[in-house]
Amino acid sequence: MRLILVGPPGAGKGTQAVHLAEHYRIPHISTGDIFRTNLQDGTPLGLKARSYMDRGELVPDSLTNEMVKDRLSRGDARGGFLLDGFPRNVTQAQVLDAMLAEQGVALDAVLELSLDNEEIIKRLSIRGRDDDRDEIIRKRLEVYSQQTAPIISFYRESGLLETIAATGEISDITASAIAALSRKRS
Ligand code: AMP
Repeated sequence: MRLILVGPPGAGKGTQAVHLAEHYRIPHISTGDIFRTNLQDGTPLGLKARSYMDRGELVPDSLTNEMVKDRLSRGDARGGFLLDGFPRNVTQAQVLDAMLAEQGVALDAVLELSLDNEEIIKRLSIRGRDDDRDEIIRKRLEVYSQQTAPIISFYRESGLLETIAATGEISDITASAIAALSRKRS
């Protein structure tokens, strides 16, 4: 299974990603987590990414795409993967297509977790991560609607998109994700 999870900040992508990766036995690749690890370790990549992350902006494609390319070329991602937080704009989506084509493989599905704005703000304000402060939340939502949301139509056009509501119990959302994805693969 080669799967992308997409949805606004606070939709629970990270949580669902863990469950889905376990279900399909594929590595969970979160670009946000990779950036945060680099930041904690003080690597050159982390230092470069920091100011963008602090402002709630996207890290430049040049840094992000290389990092993903490197991660996807590792052995454990050869048979499948779940990408969480990538692609975040149409250019990244096109670069990903090209990377996969180079490997002779393609995506199986793109799962959109949908959530309305009011619920997003409610969830993010209780999560308390460094980039969950009010003005940064607003910025991240703006970045999502302007830069990331267009990838949803991009994938809808290629017939890969499945959308589920990201509300309710975590286990129910996982179950509806798996049901939606089995429709996609059959
Ligand atoms: P996340 O944990 O997915 O919410 O990501 C946290 C932050 O990492 C984002 O606000 C961005 O600054 C950065 N980031 C994560 N994924 C990407 C990506 N695909 N492209 C650019 N920046 C990203």
